[in-house]
Amino acid sequence: MPIHVLSAQLASQIAAGEVVERPSSVVKELVENALDAGATAITIEARGGGRQLVQVGDDGCGIPAAEIETAFLRHATSKLNHVDDLKAIRTLGFRGEALAAIAAVSQVTVVSRAIGEATGTRLRLEGGQVVARAAMGAPQGTVIAVEQLFYNVPARLKFLKSVSTEKRLIDEFVSRYALAYPQVRFRLMHDGRIAWQTNGSGSVLDVLAVVYGPEVARQLLPLAEATASGGTAARDDFLSPVSLPPSPHAERKTISVRGYVGPPSLHWANRSQVTLFVNGRWVKDSSLTYAVIQAYHTLLPTGRYPFGLIFIHLPPEEVDVNVHPAKTEVRFQDANAVFTAVQRAVRETLVADSPIRSLGGWSTADDEPGDAGPGWVGELDEQAFARRQAQAELDLDWVAHETETDTAVIASQPLALPSLNLGGERLPIMRVVGQVGAAYIITEGPDGLFLIDQHAAHERILYEQFMAQWAQNQVAVQTLMAATAVYLTPAQATLLEEYLPTLANIGFQVEPFGPRAFTVRAMPAILTCQDPAQVLLTVVEDLERGDAPLQSKIEERIILRVCKSAAIKAGQTLSPREMEVLVQQLEACRSPHTCPHGRPTLIHLSVAQLARQFGRL
Ligand code: ADP
Ligand code: MG
Repeated sequence: MPIHVLSAQLASQIAAGEVVERPSSVVKELVENALDAGATAITIEARGGGRQLVQVGDDGCGIPAAEIETAFLRHATSKLNHVDDLKAIRTLGFRGEALAAIAAVSQVTVVSRAIGEATGTRLRLEGGQVVARAAMGAPQGTVIAVEQLFYNVPARLKFLKSVSTEKRLIDEFVSRYALAYPQVRFRLMHDGRIAWQTNGSGSVLDVLAVVYGPEVARQLLPLAEATASGGTAARDDFLSPVSLPPSPHAERKTISVRGYVGPPSLHWANRSQVTLFVNGRWVKDSSLTYAVIQAYHTLLPTGRYPFGLIFIHLPPEEVDVNVHPAKTEVRFQDANAVFTAVQRAVRETLVADSPIRSLGGWSTADDEPGDAGPGWVGELDEQAFARRQAQAELDLDWVAHETETDTAVIASQPLALPSLNLGGERLPIMRVVGQVGAAYIITEGPDGLFLIDQHAAHERILYEQFMAQWAQNQVAVQTLMAATAVYLTPAQATLLEEYLPTLANIGFQVEPFGPRAFTVRAMPAILTCQDPAQVLLTVVEDLERGDAPLQSKIEERIILRVCKSAAIKAGQTLSPREMEVLVQQLEACRSPHTCPHGRPTLIHLSVAQLARQFGRL
């Protein structure tokens, strides 16, 4: 093929790919435009997870009739004039690409009336070409409807995820902006139904309650005033800026870090609850996310992540937002200073709040809770210790499950001395000798002794029992005396709603109950002693991690999760009778040697090994 310049249409479709990846990116760009236009109320409507329709309406300044076609041209913007403007961007948009990109790959209808104009204008574009234009009456502001996204780029369509995943991504974007702009009223609608809305009161806490539910919002801690150096600025509604000591890069630097963090007792299975904004723009920054996580060092169980909603403000000339067309990455002139400011703000908030700060201080306590030396236990009440141990246990286990290679390694590693020299068969009959460390049961078998991990063993037992019940469609269900309410984030709620039938197969009777609230009416019987809300949250978190595998796999995964929740934890003292029952049930298992995640349930020390160790052989 000879070299030739691509047609304008093809070129713009290619360029569109960088800005518009999926329905939620359309939502993001349109919402950013509405915010730039000074809107006080923004309504977002999606149909079919945004594939059929994404519509964003605002009451902002509107687009002047004379400029409306121009707005859809590439590199057309009202927010930037001169190359110097790029050095200090104060608006969310500035590249003049979004509308052109969106229009190139969809069918767009815009109705807008600019401030000071008597009538509005309606414009219709298909594949970037204007096909209709008319004057019409309209309230001040702009409504942009984007239909049939990627109708002319089939390759893109293939990469879209399920409707529920796309819905969830939209929920996430809208909730981020609602949190960053609490003074703006947001309303999100899916398929004609209001999913949620905010009141525009200006209080971040109000929005947090909408997005995360009142339960979570109540626990959050506003970021503390950093004590580093004379941060005497006046407090605004919830926080005041952090001033940093002079840095080599600037004489005087003002980086303000505000927001909310969760107490250490509130933790998630992944980093997705650490949300960062720089000058009102949602950004992805793994280093700053790490700064937040790092501030929780030793306070959270391994593998669990905190909640953080962090608003960073700094002079616009100290941050470059023009890194990528999607504008979600930024570069800081002094990245270290920002990192320190974030970490310090979070840490000081936690120190001020932490009920266990007697642990020995922040900078020095770098042992994992489980490894802490003597003295550590004494400083906590025993229950808390047991809880922590149990949690650490859970996480260890989870890690093993998470990465398949790890599981394999753990399962196949020959243990140094007490080797795992058991065949694949059933266990011999054993006699319970006792319990060590409230975590392991010692038994005696025909050839030496066994150390049984009570949690792993119980998990295995429950798993086999549950799978057997499930295979026969006979999961034992326990109806709850009092239905329990659970509040979820919009994204979680969408996800849960999708999986309600699946959960029903497994014995969960869960019903929607108002926006993002659900009631648990019944649970699998093995969970009787568990907190229904907690169990459901764990299951949802688990579902959030995955990219919808096969239905049967999902059910199995939920069952795994349920068994883990229901199993006896390490740290629980067992009576001789309880140990006997557990051991008998383990003996009855088909695969008694590992927990369902592949960790060993027991270690064997043969008579010969003992003899060797004592120098008898
Ligand atoms: P950018 O936001 O980078 O300027 P866009 O392609 O997103 O580029 O938008 C182009 C222009 O259209 C904007 O600069 C703005 O002037 C106008 N515009 C877009 N959306 C709106 C809106 N909701 N209200 C008012 N003006 C808008
Ligand atoms: Mg824009």
